[in-house]
Amino acid sequence: MNKGYVFLVGAGPGDIRLMTVKGQQCLEKADVVLYDRLVNPLLLEATKPGAELVYCGKLPDRHLLRQEAINDLLVTYGLAGKVVVRLKGGDPSVFGRVGEEACALDKEGIPYEIIPGITAGIGATTYAGVPVTHRDHGASFAIVTGHDKSETGQPLIDWSGLATGVDTIAFYMGVKNLPYICEQLIEHGRDPNTPVLLVQWGTTGKQKTLNGTLETIANIVLQEKFSNPAITLVGEVAKLRTKESWFERQPLFGKHILFGRTTEGTSDLANELTSLGADVFEYPRFSTRKIEQAQVHFNDYEQIIFRSPKSVYWFFRHLQQQRIDIRTLQAQLYGASKKSIRAIESFACLGLSVDQLVHSEKRLVIGSGAWQHRAQERLDTYGNHDFCVSHFDEFIEQSNSTCQRILDEDRVDTIVFPSAESVRAVTEQIAACHETPDSLSKRAKVICFGPISYQTAIDLGYEVKLTLKEPTKEALIEALKHN
Ligand code: SAH
Repeated sequence: MNKGYVFLVGAGPGDIRLMTVKGQQCLEKADVVLYDRLVNPLLLEATKPGAELVYCGKLPDRHLLRQEAINDLLVTYGLAGKVVVRLKGGDPSVFGRVGEEACALDKEGIPYEIIPGITAGIGATTYAGVPVTHRDHGASFAIVTGHDKSETGQPLIDWSGLATGVDTIAFYMGVKNLPYICEQLIEHGRDPNTPVLLVQWGTTGKQKTLNGTLETIANIVLQEKFSNPAITLVGEVAKLRTKESWFERQPLFGKHILFGRTTEGTSDLANELTSLGADVFEYPRFSTRKIEQAQVHFNDYEQIIFRSPKSVYWFFRHLQQQRIDIRTLQAQLYGASKKSIRAIESFACLGLSVDQLVHSEKRLVIGSGAWQHRAQERLDTYGNHDFCVSHFDEFIEQSNSTCQRILDEDRVDTIVFPSAESVRAVTEQIAACHETPDSLSKRAKVICFGPISYQTAIDLGYEVKLTLKEPTKEALIEALKHN
C-alpha cells in the first residue's frame, strides 16, 4: 500500500483567520485530523465530509494521549495511506514537540511537511495591542518556556543571561510558575518595576489581560484567578498597553454566537458578524448532493414554487441541459424567500412571492429532499401540490464533535435563529451533543429573526430572549450589541 502523507500544521493562536492558506488547504484535503486542546475547534469545520477527527488534548493533570501515543497514531495513519493533518496551536515548532513527531515519521519513511503558524507570544500580544519589539522600547525578543521537564516543573534557564540580555521576553505555560519566574528575573538583575502583561486566550473572544510589574504581577494573577493558556510578556513594551486594544474595541468582541444554518456554505451575515469581532459558529453543517435527472414534466404545472435559490439554479440548469426554452412553460414562478425570488429574477423571469399565490390544482414545489419531512407544516401551507427534489442537504456528522467542543469550552453565549428551518435543524442535530432546547436556552440567549422563527422556537421548547423588530442585518447587530 502507498504510504500516506502527514502535514504538521500550525493552527495559529485562536482566531481561525490567522491560520495560513497552506494550512487551510491541508485541512481541506485531510482524511484524518489529530488536533490539540488549544486548537480552535472551529477550524475543524474546514475538513471534508467524513474526515476523521481525533482529539489529542492533554488536559491539565490528565494525559488523554501521551506524546508517544500521538507519534504512534501519526505513524499508523501514515502507513495506512492516509492524508493526515496534525493540527497544533500556534506554531508547531514553538513548544509543539514537532521535532519528536517528525523524527517518528522519518523513522518509518513517511513523507511529511511542516507548516508554520503564528505563535501565541506574538499573536496574543499583538491582539492585546502590544508589539513585541519597538524602536524605543525593545530591540530583542525571546520565547521562553515557563514550565519544564525538571522535577519541580520549573524551567532550567540561564536566568542572568535572560534577565539582563533580552529586552522583551514571552513566557509560555508560565502562569503556575509566575512567582518563581519573577523572582528569578529580579534576583538576576532585572528591574522589579519592569512592566509585565498577561494575555489569556489571546485572539479569541475570551481574550483577557492583566497588567503589572515583576514585583506586583504574581499577586494580581492570584487575586484574579488567572490561568493558562496565557502568555506572560515581560519588558518595557508591555507598558504600551494603556487601554483596550484595537481587537477588544471591535463592536461585537466577546460575543460567542451559534448561528443556525440550513444549507451548505457560510452566510454573508455570519461573515459580517465575524468581521465585527464576534466568534461565530454556524451550525449544523451540510453538504449538497444534487439530483441529476428531473422526473417531472414542468409543463404540467401552472405554478412552480422554489423553496431555495439552489432549487432555482438547479431548475434553470435542467432546462438548459434539456434544451427547453423557458417561454414554452406556462407556469408562474414563485420564491419562498426573498433570496429565491432574486434568484428567479436573475434569469430574467418574473419571481412572485408565495404570499401572492392564487388557487391552482397544478402546483409544483421544488426544494431540498432533506427538508421535505422536517418542513412538512410549512409545505402544508401550499395546499395540494406535487414535490420535486432538486437536491439533498446532507448533514455532516463530524460537525457535532466541533459543536461538542465549542460547548465544552463554553464558547456559546448567544444563539441566532435566522429562520424557522434553522430552529428545526439545530434542534435535531444538537441532540447528538446531549443538549435540548431547554438546556441550550440556559446556556445562551436565543435571538429569533421574526415571528415565525420565534413561534417555532417556542413550540420546540426554547426560551426566546428577543425577536428582531425587523429581520435585517442592522437590527441583528444592534440586538447583539445590547444583549
Ligand atoms: N505551539 C504553541 C505553544 C504551545 S505551548 C504556540 O506557538 O503558540 C502552550 C502555551 O502557549 C500555553 O500554555 C500558553 O502559554 C500559550 N498559548 C497558546 N495559545 C494561547 C492563546 N490563545 N493565548 C495566550 N497564550 C496562549
